[in-house]
Amino acid sequence: MTRNKNWKWLAAVISALVISACTTVNPPAEKDQKYKLTVLHTNDHHGRFWQDSKGRYGMAARMTLVESIRKEVKEEGGHVLLLSGGDINTGVPESDMQDAIPDLKGMNLLGYDAMAVGNHEFDNPRDILAMQQSLAEFPFLSANIFDAGTGKHVFEPYTTFDLDGLRIAVVGFTTTDTPKQTNPENVKGLDFQSPVAVASKLIPELEKQADIIIATTHMGHYQNGNHGINAPGDVTLARSVKGIDLIVGGHSQDPLFKPDLQNDTYIVQAQEWGKYVGRADFEYTNSQLILTSYQLIPVNGSEDDKVIPENRAMLSLLSPYQEKGQQLVEGKVGAVDQRLMGERSEVRFQPTNLGTLLTEALMEKSGADLAVMNGGGIRSSINSGEITYKDVLTVLPFGNTLTTVDMTGKEILEYLTVVANKPANSGAFAHFSGVEMLIKDQQLYNVQINGKALEPEKAYKMAILSFSASGGDKYPNLMDKPGFVDTGYLDAEVLKEFIEQNSPLRVADFQPEGVIRQ
Ligand SMILES: [Zn+2]
Repeated sequence: MTRNKNWKWLAAVISALVISACTTVNPPAEKDQKYKLTVLHTNDHHGRFWQDSKGRYGMAARMTLVESIRKEVKEEGGHVLLLSGGDINTGVPESDMQDAIPDLKGMNLLGYDAMAVGNHEFDNPRDILAMQQSLAEFPFLSANIFDAGTGKHVFEPYTTFDLDGLRIAVVGFTTTDTPKQTNPENVKGLDFQSPVAVASKLIPELEKQADIIIATTHMGHYQNGNHGINAPGDVTLARSVKGIDLIVGGHSQDPLFKPDLQNDTYIVQAQEWGKYVGRADFEYTNSQLILTSYQLIPVNGSEDDKVIPENRAMLSLLSPYQEKGQQLVEGKVGAVDQRLMGERSEVRFQPTNLGTLLTEALMEKSGADLAVMNGGGIRSSINSGEITYKDVLTVLPFGNTLTTVDMTGKEILEYLTVVANKPANSGAFAHFSGVEMLIKDQQLYNVQINGKALEPEKAYKMAILSFSASGGDKYPNLMDKPGFVDTGYLDAEVLKEFIEQNSPLRVADFQPEGVIRQ
């Protein structure tokens, strides 16, 4: 667990010392000084500022853990850096409805030193992102996002720290998949360049200024660099560019219980949601960086873990936001003139108005040509009258995300033939929008997409929730298709938006008519 560094600057320091030694008292031999550095890290926080309904995770317990490590490291004469691999946004209504302000304030109190810009930072319009940046007392880093017009960096590419003479550069990188995983409006005018290409130029420059180079990235850890349909991730970066000592990653949401050492670069990742705090302890002496220990420390993840008490200061900072978030969840988002049918005895047996509305909402958000929804994923009706966000969350409690997949007409037909034949009285029973067809003797007839006959060679975009896309209910797995995209949009958030934009809803507009079963 050792690596040698090229210490051109050390030669300069030594020669300076030799010269000054003639006239002044000898300074301490920095050459043999042992520096201790502890890097703590989290990633893919996704709105989890508060503990979950089972008392797990949360920033208040994270604070207690981080403070105790800081104290321990300080007593041993070391230094701590606290880094985030990005994706602070999107995932919990109480956070989403407050633009992740509680999360960022919590990160300030925790004393984060820097964060990578994640793809989900672009789920909000850019003025929200700018507000978040100005709220944060630490930089949002990304060296590979450029303004397409001016060619300039949009975020700080890197930041530096001088810890009692130990010079550290932290550089950020963001997945080039970002533009296809978010609302195009929010990434307009941005140029996501290859992290490898950018790093090849930047890292040699940073080596002149820093003893240790850390990349905090949001691009995924893919085993042995097999990134599949995803953009290249941390392993590819480490293998392609020399000189990065540590990559603090995110995006693939993996727990890496052991750092992955690639080309002298350690890659770490702490899964997601603040489930763990990653802790990497380093010693640095005479150009050698040694990783002395590494662990992912669980934050009240299971009953077997030692309970970490919640930090009071963090609780008093976050409690008002949690309360406000809960009030917002109770707030009215729209209205409907009659009951939207979502009872188990309905949605698993026949197409319903709520099934139609849900699939229309998926289409509208994603711009898809058609949408499919499994009946078992619809967990409740919506009664006539006022609709609250809580009602929406009761219909869709699982926190699935909206995914899309581009397929040819031929592939669509094969897919629909499987899912349209899922039997009644099962969660797999399928609801549709955008498609008309006759289902008879397990065959599909007169398949039309948006009122036009399905063309076998034409490309279509289909929207579906992540549960079904990943093969839930024995639907065909779509995740390995080249045109598959997980937009990251929470299902309940998508439905809420649709209700807000189309209220008062008239149930007559959502009668399921297109799919006839004989
Ligand atoms: Zn991500």
